[in-house]
Amino acid sequence: MSNSSHSTNNTSNPKLTAQQQRVLFEKATEAPFTGTLLHNQDQGTYGCANCGQQIFSSKDKFDSGTGWPSFSDVTDQGKVKLIKDNSHGMTRTEVVCAHCGGHLGHLFDDGPSPTKKRYCINSCSLEFGKKG
Ligand SMILES: [Zn+2]
Repeated sequence: MSNSSHSTNNTSNPKLTAQQQRVLFEKATEAPFTGTLLHNQDQGTYGCANCGQQIFSSKDKFDSGTGWPSFSDVTDQGKVKLIKDNSHGMTRTEVVCAHCGGHLGHLFDDGPSPTKKRYCINSCSLEFGKKG
């Protein structure tokens, strides 16, 4: 289930913008309501912007009103790693890509039924692949 022998070599990806690199590798947070995928309604899958692993599905996307793309579930629990994050005086759960270790966003427990999960994800950490 885990491939821990994989070394993380993720700090030089020429297809990423400076902002994407700051978010993915330095855990920055993009400004709310600025992400290009925030209001994306198309059917498809959302993958990690760094390694391309597909992580979220459009069927689990919902409008949380927070200003970041939000999902009630992942397509597979093994796609992400959840890490306790005590920075900024808060206890939160960080969501990182299980494949490349890139920072995606945070997980909260106030999402819609049935999962009650809210994956609050930076738009620039994601790349969208349209279905069909
Ligand atoms: Zn990745």
